[in-house]
Order: sequence, then C-alpha cells, then structure tokens
Amino acid sequence: MLRTVFIFGLSVQLLILSVFALDVTQFPDDNEHFNRTLAGIMRPRVVGTAGHRKVENFIKSELKTLGFNTEVDQFSERVPIFGNVTFTNIIGVLNPRARDFLALACHYDSKYFQDDPGFVAAIDSAVPCAIMLNTAKTLSSYLHGNFKDRTDIGLMLIFFDGEEAFKDWSDTDSIYGSRHLATKLSNTRSSNGSGSTIDRIEVLVLLDLIGAANPKFYSFFPNTHGLHHSLSEIELSLSATRQLEGKSLMFMRRPSTGFVDDDHRPFLQQNVPILHLITTPFPPQWHTPNDNAENLHWPSIRNFNKIFRTFVYEYLNRHKKQVNLRAALR
Ligand SMILES: [Zn+2]
Repeated sequence: MLRTVFIFGLSVQLLILSVFALDVTQFPDDNEHFNRTLAGIMRPRVVGTAGHRKVENFIKSELKTLGFNTEVDQFSERVPIFGNVTFTNIIGVLNPRARDFLALACHYDSKYFQDDPGFVAAIDSAVPCAIMLNTAKTLSSYLHGNFKDRTDIGLMLIFFDGEEAFKDWSDTDSIYGSRHLATKLSNTRSSNGSGSTIDRIEVLVLLDLIGAANPKFYSFFPNTHGLHHSLSEIELSLSATRQLEGKSLMFMRRPSTGFVDDDHRPFLQQNVPILHLITTPFPPQWHTPNDNAENLHWPSIRNFNKIFRTFVYEYLNRHKKQVNLRAALR
C-alpha cells in the first residue's frame, strides 16, 4: 500500500506545480528537427524491404547524434506471406547503469498492403517515432546536463519492429518485436544482481496512432492513472497560460472503456506498468492510404510535443526514489 501512495505523491507534486503554471520556454520547440526527423521516417518501411533498412539506419544514427547508447535486438522468424524475415528492435539508453528506467516506446515498421506499396503510415507510427526523438532533442541540454550519470533513473527509447500483422492480426501474427524484446529483457540479469532488466522499467509509455485531428487519450490502467492525470494537468496548465494552440483538450480524465492490443501486451504480462498513449476511437485514416502527410494535424502534433516533453522532464527531474507502480497489480 505504501508503494501505491507514492503514485499519488508523484501526481500531487505535478498538481502543485500546475498552480504556479508551467513554462515550456525552458525547453523550446524545435519544429525544424521534428519535420526533418519525420521526413526521415515517413516512407514505406515494411519489414525486410530497403525502405525499412533505411529507416532503421536513420533512427540508429539519430540516437547516436543525440548521445544515446544504442543497441539492437535482432532475430529472424517465419511470418505469413513473406516467409523468413529479420526483425530489428532498436533501443537507445541514457544512464545505462541506473537502477531503474523510464521507457518510451513506439513501433517503426509500416503495415504491408499488397495493393498499396506507397503506404507511409504517418500516424502509425512515423509521428510517434519523431515525437520520441524530438523529445530527446528538445530536452538535450537537461539530458546531457543535470540528468547525465544519474544512478537512480535512466531513459530508454525503444523502437519496436514488426508490430504490424503481415496478414491478419492474431497472437502469432503481430507485435513480433515487442514479444521478442520482453522475453529477452526478462531473461537478462542486471549487472548489479537485482533481478531482470525488465524489472528495472518503472513504466513503459507506449505511443501509437498520433498525429490526426481531434486526438483523445484515455487512461487504460488503474496503476498509471496518476501519470495520465499528470499529463492532463500539464495540458490544462499550458492551455491556461496560452502555450497551446486551439482550445480542445486531448487528455481525457476518464478510464478507457476497453483494452487495445498493442506492443505493450508482452510487457504488461511481465508486470511492467503501462501508460498507453493511443487515440481512441482510432482516427478514420488508420490502415488506409489516407494515413499520410496531408492528413496530419500540425497544431495537435505541436501541442502533444510540448505536453509530452514537459511530462518526461518532470518525471525525470522529480524522480528522487524508486517509483513502484507494480504493487497495484499484485
Ligand atoms: Zn497499424
């Protein structure tokens, strides 16, 4: 129970902060970086194709430029239609020796459509990938300043491969990369002897289907309601001080009415606390040729970037002792 109280401790701290109004000017937007990053990712990138290899190399080189230790988790598997293919999860880490991690994640593969070889999968999930890299870029003065070499908390950026089904979504034809990585991390012992690497993830924040107009994010899991609430507090605070575009709010202070199957499932099954940031209902362009640059809603993307950057900074900067949200699951 004590552990659970700390969830509210974290969210109360953010609530108090909102009274004094957050100022994001400490970490200004870098839209030029965002646009360039998105352009590097938003191309057809079906697993096993040249486009996929290009995007894989692009993400690895961006992580390196941003000063992350970068590893890959590569494996081959037989899949429908394509046969044997090689998947590559990409993991960027800051403070690799830290006791615990805040993990941000999305998938970088695009779905295969036989009749649409030009499918660029903008919201699914080129934009989430660009958001993660832009968050690291805009916070880099902090991440390579006060945050550097912290031993209590590190930052992990996970780019999953093979989220999409090759044929029809099922337990075996979907989330290839996250299934493999969750198994690998749960079998990897930490060098400090304190359990497996997966147990060092305090929370996995999964971004998916972001970039369309009128996004709505609901809270999916009771043990991360406090964190979801904090995102809403940050949004309200930035909105009240006219630091956001438009008036509509994206973080809904309500639980979701259902579970959305996604890359978080294998981590959830290993008791990793999950903050699932996916828009529901799904945007109308999802899995259609309209999921492209023309149908992105830039004010929503810019607002999300500001809110999310503030959230990541506040989580890391306010982190004083281990946040154990797992207690609520047991
Ligand atoms: Zn998809």
